[in-house]
Order: sequence, then C-alpha cells, then structure tokens
Amino acid sequence: MKGSDPFAVTGSDPLGPFKGLTLSRARRELARYAALFYARGWMPGTSGNLSLKIASRPLTIVITPSGVDKGELTPHDLLVVTKWGSRWGLAPLGLTQRGQTPSGLRPSAETAIHFALYEAFPTTGAVFHVHTVHSTLVATRHVRHGAVRMRGLEMLKGFETLAPNAPGAIPVLPNIDDLAAFGDHVKRHAARLRHVPGFLIAHHGMSCWGKTGGEAKQHLELMDFLCQYLWEWQRR
Ligand SMILES: [Zn+2]
Repeated sequence: MKGSDPFAVTGSDPLGPFKGLTLSRARRELARYAALFYARGWMPGTSGNLSLKIASRPLTIVITPSGVDKGELTPHDLLVVTKWGSRWGLAPLGLTQRGQTPSGLRPSAETAIHFALYEAFPTTGAVFHVHTVHSTLVATRHVRHGAVRMRGLEMLKGFETLAPNAPGAIPVLPNIDDLAAFGDHVKRHAARLRHVPGFLIAHHGMSCWGKTGGEAKQHLELMDFLCQYLWEWQRR
C-alpha cells in the first residue's frame, strides 16, 4: 500500500504482468526463493543471484546482494537497481548521502546479465541464476556444441515456448569472467535463447527466467531435472 513502504517504486507499467508487484512484496518473495534454493544446495557459499522486475520505465529490478549467505537473507537485504540507458546502479530510493544502501550491501556482480535478459525479453518478470552440480557438469561437457539437444522427453513440455515434440536444444554459453561482456554475449545470442527460457553456463551453472518468480522457479526445476537425467543417461 502506498505510504507503507519507504522504498516503494510507483508508476504505471505498460507491460501489465509486473503491475501490482510492490517492492515490499518483491523483497519478501525473493528472500523466500533464496532460502528455498539455498536449502536445495543450489546457492552454496554466497553464490547465485535472483531478481524480480518491478518496473519497466525505467527498467527497475530487485536483486540479491553480493557476498551474502543466500540462506539467511531478509527482505530488507534485497536491493533496488535501475537501468538508465547503458548504465545501471542502485536506485536512489532510500540510499545514504554517500549513495550506499543502509546495510552497506552491494548488488550482485552479475546484475549486468539480469538486465541483458530483461531487455532481450521484455515480458520477463524474474531471472534466477543458480549453481547446481548437474547443470555445471552438462554445460561443461556440451559447451563446444553451443547447445544440449534433447528429444521426446516429457519434461521438455514444461518449457511452453517449445513447440510440442520439437527437438529441444538448450543453449550452453561459455563462462565469461567479464560480466559486462557476458551481458553483451547474452544480448547477441537473444534470438537463439528465445526458444528455451534458460541457458547453461560451462564450468558455472545455469540461469532461467519467466514472467513471474513462480514460472522462473519451475523453469529452473525442469532444467535441473533434464540435466540430471542427461548426465545419468550418458553414464549408463
Ligand atoms: Zn554464478
């Protein structure tokens, strides 16, 4: 409710699905997903990053902070980041005079990749990046082909952007240390990434997105199932 959230980002959102996702709700939702994925072992150490989009103009997201145990995040640890043109930074809402968050936390180092995905796919409302063992194994094995091809698996139907019975080709990207360059790489490959709402990253993990946090979570679960299945199948 307006007035109850000191960090509230208001304004009309022409894309609709994000309308009504207040900052306070987005923060609670992200903290819940972070705790869930941490409990599954998908965000070990302080790794992984999750975001939800709360406004389109300017593009504004709530994202997990860098270097913090993802199993212990509270809603107020979640940060608001806005993109203006080619630059992004902490939204000025609620910052100290030195431009820092009251908690001193910094946005995820991989924020550039989140923005690249939100810009490439404007209906996206959530981007989740985690490190599962099987996504890392499969990505590393298949990176030289640029994709993992699968056919006829029931679970592929969960990716609604795939046509029924179409051969599934899950993109695999190389791991690029320069995160701004990684974001540019994602944008350049957007056409290829359009068919599956996620990709694997060699020696690293995976990212999935969706219109909502719930959809992005489902896509992560499907992707991890496919990776576990493929790895076990190829070991037989
Ligand atoms: Zn990562």
